[in-house]
Amino acid sequence: MPAHVQHITAYSWPEFQNLPMAQKVRCLAREDGTPFHTLFAQQFDRANLDRLCKLATEIRTIAKSRSGMLFLQSLLSHKRAMLYFTQPSSRTFLSFISACQILGLHTGEVRDTSTSSEFKGESQEDSIRTFSSYFDLIVMRTQEKGLAEHMAWTLSNSERPVPIVNAGSGKDQHPTQALLDIYTLNRSFERRGGLRNRAVMFVGDLARGRTVRSLSSLLLNYENIEQIFVAPDGLQIGQDVIDNLAARGARWTVSSNMREHLPAVDAIYMTRIQDEWDSKQGESACIDTSAFKIGAEEMRLCKPDAILMHPLPRRDEIATEVDRDPRAMYWRQMRNGMWMRAALIASTFDCATRIDEFYRENL
Ligand code: ASP
Ligand code: ASP
Repeated sequence: MPAHVQHITAYSWPEFQNLPMAQKVRCLAREDGTPFHTLFAQQFDRANLDRLCKLATEIRTIAKSRSGMLFLQSLLSHKRAMLYFTQPSSRTFLSFISACQILGLHTGEVRDTSTSSEFKGESQEDSIRTFSSYFDLIVMRTQEKGLAEHMAWTLSNSERPVPIVNAGSGKDQHPTQALLDIYTLNRSFERRGGLRNRAVMFVGDLARGRTVRSLSSLLLNYENIEQIFVAPDGLQIGQDVIDNLAARGARWTVSSNMREHLPAVDAIYMTRIQDEWDSKQGESACIDTSAFKIGAEEMRLCKPDAILMHPLPRRDEIATEVDRDPRAMYWRQMRNGMWMRAALIASTFDCATRIDEFYRENL
C-alpha cells in the first residue's frame, strides 16, 4: 500500500479532520514529499514549488513544437480525469480541461447536479465515489469547505484511491490558483533577483477571498516577503491568516489605505467583492469600495517595475484602461495557470522525470 494511503487510513474521518495541519500535510504526501491529493496550499514547501515551476516551464517549452506536443500527449493518454465543478466556474474549469488535454488525459465532467442522482437524494460523497470508479483523477470545485478533504479521506479508504485536486473549496482554499500566482511572481521577478525581499499587497474582499488565503500561505516559503492586507471595514483578512504569519515570523501590515502603500509595493493582488457569500441580500452593496480600485491614475503612483495581478473574474476593481500597461499581469497569470496545472497533474502521476529527460535531450 502506498505511504499516503497507509497514513490516511490510520485515522477515522473525525480524527483526520481534527489533525493539526502539519500532520495532515504529512499524511497527504508521498514518499518523495510531493502531494498525492492536492487539498491545501500548506502542502507545498519550497522544494515542491521550485520543482513545479521548473516543470511548468519545461512543459510550456516542449509544447511549442508538434513533436514535443505529441510526446506530452502520450504521457497520460491511458488516464481519465473527472471535473466535478458544482460551483460556477469557467476559467478554472477550462484551464484544467486544457491542462488535461496537454497531457493526453481524457476528461468527463459533472457541473449540474440537477441532472444527476444527487437530485434523487444521493449524497455528494456517494455520487463522487460512484464517479471515481470511471476515473483516475478527480478535480473538484465546491461551495462546501471540507468536501474535497472528505473525499480524499473516503477514496483513500476505498479500493480505488484516486487522487483529488481541490480546484476551489468554499471561502477557504484555492491551492492551484496560489500555485499559478507563485509561478507568475517567480517569472516576473526572475531576472530581477527573484521572489525575495518583496512587498506584496492584497486588496479587496480579503475576508471571503480564498485565493488570497492560499497565496498568503505559499508566500511563507520565500525569504523576506512583506504581506500588506488592504480592505474596507468588514472585509479584512481573517485572524487565522495573521496568526499563521506571526507563527512563522513573517512581516505583515493590515491597512485600509491602498494609495498610501502603492508607491512602495512590488506586487499588487486585486480581488473582487465576493458577494455570493453575503448573509443577507445587498450586504456588500452597502460597503464603500471606491478607495479599493485601480485605474491609470493609481498606476502612476506605482513603481515602474511593480506587477498587477488579479485571479479574475474582475468587476470594476481594475479599470480596463490598465490592461495595456505592461505591468498588468492578469492575462499572463491566467495562461500560466494552464501550464502550472499541467505540471501539477504530471507530478501527481509521476511523469516529471520523463518530462525532465525529454527537455534535456531535445531542447
Ligand atoms: N472564480 C472562478 C475562477 O477561479 C471563476 C471562473 O472560474 O470563471 O476563475
Ligand atoms: N477565481 C477566483 C476564485 O474562484 C477568484 C474569484 O472568483 O473572485 O476564488
